[in-house]
Amino acid sequence: MLDLSRQYASIRGEMLAAVERVCDSQRYILSDEVAAFEREFAALCGTGDVVACASGTDALWLALAAAGIGAGHDVITTPFSFFATASSIVRAGAQPVFVDIDPLTLNLDPAQVERKLGTKCSRRRAIMPVHLYGQCADMESLNRMAAEHKLAMIEDAAQAIGASWNGKPAGALSLAAAFSFYPTKNLSAFGDAGALTTSDPHTAERLRLLRNHGGKQRYYHDEIGANSRMDSIQAAVLRVKMPHLARWNTGRRERAAVYDRLLATSGLTGGPVIRLNVSKQAHHVYHQYVVRVQKRDELRKFLSERGVSTEIYYPVPLHLQKCFAYLGYAPGDLPEAERAAAEVLALPMFPELREDEQRWVVEGIAEFFS
Ligand SMILES: *Cc1c(COP(=O)(O)O)cnc(C)c1O
Repeated sequence: MLDLSRQYASIRGEMLAAVERVCDSQRYILSDEVAAFEREFAALCGTGDVVACASGTDALWLALAAAGIGAGHDVITTPFSFFATASSIVRAGAQPVFVDIDPLTLNLDPAQVERKLGTKCSRRRAIMPVHLYGQCADMESLNRMAAEHKLAMIEDAAQAIGASWNGKPAGALSLAAAFSFYPTKNLSAFGDAGALTTSDPHTAERLRLLRNHGGKQRYYHDEIGANSRMDSIQAAVLRVKMPHLARWNTGRRERAAVYDRLLATSGLTGGPVIRLNVSKQAHHVYHQYVVRVQKRDELRKFLSERGVSTEIYYPVPLHLQKCFAYLGYAPGDLPEAERAAAEVLALPMFPELREDEQRWVVEGIAEFFS
């Protein structure tokens, strides 16, 4: 699925030098290194400010808390994402309201959001779309609705580092956006790390308070925040990797084009394999390359026996997770998310993947369906 050792081999010297620099400085948390990372990441995302934090999961919670979302509030989000999208809403004290996805992109469906907003509800405060697999949700439509209904917009951009919508980078499309640098993400740390982008100075200030126990001055606490600081070592690692990101994302897009071609020439697309749509407005960075198939689990087993690893993002939609039973959803409530959960299959994807390896993957799929 992902061989990080190839990337590491290409930048090993730079990485070790950066880690050594941090060790020599003896400054391990929220240092100049983290401040430099924040400036550089803000430039990359075209936002006024960046607040580094400990993980993407924390970033989502921090964004909601900074926007004043808490007890008694509803947040509209997608049922088809990583767990943290929904758990962060609950952790902020609010309630997730799941709205079904567009079957072609698997992102939050603006038409369904519009329908939901057509019903009156005084608890609604925010919309939190996810840029799934590296493709932005339809931010133009969603932002229009958010403005109309006076809702805050928060992006879960964990999978979309370097993506854009209508030329505007992920992270610059909302009040605040959450990024993750978990080791599998397009830009990854040597452990857990995350960040928030915002161009609203008030939000940036709230985020800085909340990530460090709610205080500006040590031992004086204006409110209850969290320990969600970024380590200097992670900032140093990310600073080494950031200049390579555009090239790596281009590599992912090239790998995706190769899959598109191989799947088409094998007669699989238009046949048993369904590709996802890429919107005209989207610059897709292929955090994952995902197709839809029937007999998905049998195919996965068949490929695994040929030495091809695949993944299912995500096998259980969020509205049917056991921990959210109290929300009262039942199977059949969000049919597109449920169908996607049964059909999606992510193929190996990383910039250093080779064409001969991709051929082996597609030949395996062709053999299964023949
Ligand atoms: C990875 C991810 C997160 C969480 O990020 P962590 O850094 O692992 O906490 C949140 N949302 C989505 C969509 C993700 O892919």
